[in-house]
Amino acid sequence: MKLVVDLLKEEERMLLKAAERLGVKAELVKVDGLDLSTDVDEGVYLIRALSHNRAVVAAAHIESSGSISINSWRALAAGWNKAVALSFLRASGIPIPRTRLAPAIPNAEEFIVKPAFGSWGRKVALAKSKEDVEALLKGVDPDEVYLVQERIGDGTDIRAFVVGYRVVAAMIRRPPPGDWRSNAARGGHVEGIKPDAEVEDLAIKATRALNAEYAGVDILMGNGEYYVGEVNVIPEFKAVSKASGVDVAEELLKYVKELEKK
Ligand code: ADP
Ligand code: ZN
Ligand code: MG
Repeated sequence: MKLVVDLLKEEERMLLKAAERLGVKAELVKVDGLDLSTDVDEGVYLIRALSHNRAVVAAAHIESSGSISINSWRALAAGWNKAVALSFLRASGIPIPRTRLAPAIPNAEEFIVKPAFGSWGRKVALAKSKEDVEALLKGVDPDEVYLVQERIGDGTDIRAFVVGYRVVAAMIRRPPPGDWRSNAARGGHVEGIKPDAEVEDLAIKATRALNAEYAGVDILMGNGEYYVGEVNVIPEFKAVSKASGVDVAEELLKYVKELEKK
């Protein structure tokens, strides 16, 4: 397995350790300096760059060289752009929050405003009127895509971690007091869960909708209904590993190992 990285976060270190335990040969490939004028060495590449822009380039180059990229360049490009992802999800019959490109607002009481590109709940804001939305968008680069979404519940969501079309681990995340974002990185309260069949089915369908082979799927809950909020295509997994007790790195590595045999 070739692990494509820019910097090594805890997840990538977990992957290297899991590779050692499973006897999978792991080679680090730096995304910086990638040589686009020649084929990459043949193999199965797991893309774990922090920069999604670079990840898309690396995956495209790996695939055009005839090698395997996990996730694929298409999945990375689609998943990284929340607007593109929502469009594919909806077309696959997956329920999504009502969403419009800013500054338009969907028919709803409260809105979540967020950039199409972002992680860790950064720049995800809560608005209660069209004026709030406009104020939030003042001074934003006009080329940036922002989404305005109906607010689903209180921001509590389920993170389902899918590997090879199977949910291997899941947790429920609740926003900390005073916040509307449940991200583990923001101090969301997390708890491992055994997801019900509907959640499993939605998470797997959402992963497939983007042609991803593994993903961290966010499923919002409101009025007893589930909505897929986003599909993370280079997902972190230290929080879900800890909450669920599942060795997610090992699950992912086992999947890569199977691909290497083919
Ligand atoms: P990020 O990529 O930064 O995690 P998300 O779209 O997952 O972006 O939003 C971060 C968090 O904000 C979600 O986990 C959820 O708690 C909250 N949130 C996002 N969109 C909505 C929404 N439409 N309704 C309610 N809460 C939301
Ligand atoms: Zn995300
Ligand atoms: Mg999220």
